[in-house]
Amino acid sequence: MTDGPAGQVAAGQVAAGQGSAGKDSAGQVSVGRVTVDRDLCVSSGMCESVAPALFEIDDDGELVVLQDVVPDALLADAQAAARACPTRALTVA
Ligand code: SF4
Repeated sequence: MTDGPAGQVAAGQVAAGQGSAGKDSAGQVSVGRVTVDRDLCVSSGMCESVAPALFEIDDDGELVVLQDVVPDALLADAQAAARACPTRALTVA
């Protein structure tokens, strides 16, 4: 057998109405998530040039997202990559 069902569900309280966008109530830095529209991506490599820690064009010319959950330290790079994408295939949210 391998791992059992993911067991640890935090039975935390839901903080209502605290709409902070930067850090949560525990002080954790928020992260972004990168999404690639594969129908739009033309493997130009612009995103890799702007944010090589996040994107890579592989040997087959396919875009590989190295970290789809972007740490705060790389969020600006991810957003710059999205802006640099010639086909607007990248979304950072
Ligand atoms: S910049 Fe846009 S089109 Fe170019 S590889 Fe990245 S996601 Fe694809």
